[in-house]
Amino acid sequence: MSVAHQLTAVRRALPEGVELVAVSKTHPVEKIREAYDAGQRIFGESRPQELREKYEALPHDIEWHMIGHLQTNKVKYIAPFVKLIHSVDSERLVETIQKEGAKCGRVIDILLEIHVAEEETKNGWNFEDLERFLDSSSAEDFPNIRIRGVMGIATNTDDEEHVRRDFETLKQCFDSLKERFSDGFDTLSMGMSSDYPLAVECGSTMVRVGSFIFGERDYSK
Ligand SMILES: *Cc1c(COP(=O)(O)O)cnc(C)c1O
Repeated sequence: MSVAHQLTAVRRALPEGVELVAVSKTHPVEKIREAYDAGQRIFGESRPQELREKYEALPHDIEWHMIGHLQTNKVKYIAPFVKLIHSVDSERLVETIQKEGAKCGRVIDILLEIHVAEEETKNGWNFEDLERFLDSSSAEDFPNIRIRGVMGIATNTDDEEHVRRDFETLKQCFDSLKERFSDGFDTLSMGMSSDYPLAVECGSTMVRVGSFIFGERDYSK
């Protein structure tokens, strides 16, 4: 199936108001160009250098989203142009993004990644730790950051009820944090190729779909 065909299928399945991030990590610029020519403008990548190279090679009306785990020493590669960082999961990372945003005179939009999946991964805040961090800081500390919402990844399982519970937990975190922030806290990023219809049912406003659109990834290259 062509990239354009797959893109159209996803778009048709998404209700009005749900944004599609086409996850192009590991795929060459030619494939991204196919999606671009089919009208897609939001792309997600998970490695800062790869993101930077693709940004330089492709049209500049593309909105680049960083969706993968981000090391603080790599923020500088993407700070000048990145549109949204989904994977913000530590105080140190918030501080670094603030610093790099200030350096390039930008306000950088971010999402707070919350850990809900059962897998042992260190990515994502524990919700109580996140609340503690937010209680102890104020927006004035981070003038070059705008917190736009929440991102999460459901447990990788065939058990649909389990996945649904993870998405419901993320939605609850989103709703509860929304009360702290004023306008602009409007993004709940959840749902990937295998589970995006369920994520949308549970309140997702942004889905991150890769292999369904671009095919399987080859990490060996
Ligand atoms: C790779 C990736 C995706 C896309 O996964 P697919 O299963 O290919 O749709 C979504 N979100 C994150 C955080 C990813 O790293």
